[in-house]
Amino acid sequence: MVRETKFYDVLGVSPDVSEGELKKAYRKLALKYHPDKNPGAGDKFKEISHAYEILSDGEKRQMYDQYGEEGLNGQGAGMGGMDAEDLFSQLFGGGIFGGGGGHGGRGGRPSGPRRGKDMVHQLKVSLEDLYAGKSSKLALQKHILCPKCDGKGGKEGAVQTCRSCNGNGVRIVMRQMGPMIQQMQQPCGDCRGEGEIVNERDRCKHCVGKKIISERKILEVHIDKGMRDGQKITFQGEGDQAPNVIPGDILIAIDEKPHPRFKRQGDDLVYEARIDLLTALAGGQFAISHLDDRVLLVNVLPGEAIKPDCVKVIPNEGMPAYRHHHHGHMFVKFSVEFPQPNWATPEVIAKLDTILPSRPQMPNFGDKHVDEVVLADAEAYQTQNTQRGYEDEDEDQRGGPGVQCAQQ
Ligand SMILES: [Zn+2]
Ligand SMILES: [Zn+2]
Repeated sequence: MVRETKFYDVLGVSPDVSEGELKKAYRKLALKYHPDKNPGAGDKFKEISHAYEILSDGEKRQMYDQYGEEGLNGQGAGMGGMDAEDLFSQLFGGGIFGGGGGHGGRGGRPSGPRRGKDMVHQLKVSLEDLYAGKSSKLALQKHILCPKCDGKGGKEGAVQTCRSCNGNGVRIVMRQMGPMIQQMQQPCGDCRGEGEIVNERDRCKHCVGKKIISERKILEVHIDKGMRDGQKITFQGEGDQAPNVIPGDILIAIDEKPHPRFKRQGDDLVYEARIDLLTALAGGQFAISHLDDRVLLVNVLPGEAIKPDCVKVIPNEGMPAYRHHHHGHMFVKFSVEFPQPNWATPEVIAKLDTILPSRPQMPNFGDKHVDEVVLADAEAYQTQNTQRGYEDEDEDQRGGPGVQCAQQ
């Protein structure tokens, strides 16, 4: 009978657990709750490390079983004992979570399992789906440990370390190159570089001794409202499995599709509206189909005098802010469609004199000679310039700015 079971409970084991099972249980939990892997787990990692520190020490475990946590007082117990991180690296080698796919370093100091590479998949998402949020299924191929042999490659005991290379998979060979002797690493021939030998008839038939098989995996990806291009959704530990490897994560990276009507700037949307001159000057309406099934009917107030290229805003009609309860804004950039040449009779045009703000007065040119000229269509002249090439630079420069006028 033990006095209390708290430390055993923390590790999810029973008080009669063997040393090996205890280590296994700690290892499993430590990998799960390590702050690098699971930053939201709080003090869980410290708790399990502390429990393991006590229970893995024969003397301390005996004290604990007999007298409970109280019995450990004055023995360097409490949370202050050994640093959780130190205990962890002592067992599994330091920095195993640092950087994707760190190397185990064959033959060097024992370094425990290494962490597999993270796998990144791009997911194309429309702006509509980023606006409203969506769940989508993504099928992908990944490696898992063979379920038939538990990733061992064959029957229990069938897999043995290669004696020729001591399981390193490589052998050092000396080679005479002229006067020099060179040391070379060569893949071990006996185990074909695998470091292990499996008896042919005990080999797992399911994975052909490869320990891993390929599996189709469907991931349910939740796209939250307001997610941005490049944002990643993490599926922890869903990366490729391999023997003695902690699987990395699968990262789904949002790839926002370009939109025909809107440009996105953070949480704001930019819409280009083309309105006619009458609406710009005298007011009227135009419609914007939004990213959900709504239409925004926009009222231009009479006399607002919308200028070409001016920008107005429809507040709070932008993208939803990610994990917040507000929206960005919709910026509307205007272009104004002018009437075609000769759009009205001289009488109608004459009326504009009484309607529009009056013309600016010509300044006094003083002694200067004044030539009166009329405008021609610039396009015709630009074509001529191109045909002539660049013989006359002055003419060329004059042709340049004409493009903008011609388009109106
Ligand atoms: Zn070998
Ligand atoms: Zn197998």
